[in-house]
Amino acid sequence: MNNHDEFLAAQKLIPGGVDSPVRAFGNVGSEPFMVDRGEGSYIYDVEGKKYLDFVQSWGPLIFGHADADIERAVVQTAKKGLSFGASSPLETQLASLVLKNFDFLDKIRFTSSGTEATMSAIRLARAFSGRDKILKFEGCYHGHSDSLLVKAGSGASTFGNASSAGVPQDVAKNTYLARYNDIQSVKDVLAQNDIGTIIIEPIAGNMGLVPADPEFLTELRALCDEKKIVLIIDEVMSGFRASELGSYGIYGVRGDLVTFGKVIGGGMSVAAFAGKREIMDMISPLGAVYQAGTLSGNPVAMAAGIASL
Ligand SMILES: *Cc1c(COP(=O)(O)O)cnc(C)c1O
Repeated sequence: MNNHDEFLAAQKLIPGGVDSPVRAFGNVGSEPFMVDRGEGSYIYDVEGKKYLDFVQSWGPLIFGHADADIERAVVQTAKKGLSFGASSPLETQLASLVLKNFDFLDKIRFTSSGTEATMSAIRLARAFSGRDKILKFEGCYHGHSDSLLVKAGSGASTFGNASSAGVPQDVAKNTYLARYNDIQSVKDVLAQNDIGTIIIEPIAGNMGLVPADPEFLTELRALCDEKKIVLIIDEVMSGFRASELGSYGIYGVRGDLVTFGKVIGGGMSVAAFAGKREIMDMISPLGAVYQAGTLSGNPVAMAAGIASL
């Protein structure tokens, strides 16, 4: 079938024909092509047309499509079974590769998506701080959990929505917004509200490419220390990309919790949140914060991440 017929067929069964809204090309002004395969910097549609792919799956494919080393790791690991629902040493290997350069991150837990990583990090931060209210920045995207779909960018902004329908007002009211690179806007919110958690993209990739001002990030860190606020640095996009240490390699600003995704899975479903021992040990089974996943730490996905890093 050609692109058009494939897209029609998809639309009959999948809302909008896509499993993630940006793929519908809403603002591109044409129908999306349907992918057959990718190779290096190129992607090929079902009609055999070749495109130079600047998107690279929105972040994970730092080595391009179908990288030989990652492919080999995936195939070899897949032959031993696709999922165990029990732990494998591959998880410890990827954990040590992610954490080895960060002396301020003691422990990590893997999830299957960046959305889960930030959602879980926020739950943990709320438990640690004992405060429900969180602050995020306009234009930053942290996935599609209820607490964070408050004026979110990325998919949601493609359609010009300030937030998503279906997010309870009771949830949204605990999320406050400040302006990126505007420390006064943060101070204004903190002066009026008992915020326990701040989450930020240290390099805002989801509203174009807006780097944080170094002084802004440093002041944000100082404010969090002063008010005992948990700072979540969301490196799902910048991690292992902006530098080997992500934004930390550029700014030297430490998160109390740091989220990773995209590159650490090499194209498979891997994300993670990491932090100091005292915070991370609050997660079940050691602590009272529940967090889980049938495919978390999936062996094939871990193998892709290990090959990638
Ligand atoms: C992509 C992204 C997420 C969400 O990750 P998913 O795997 O798409 O759920 C979260 N935060 C940032 C900064 C991202 O770029």
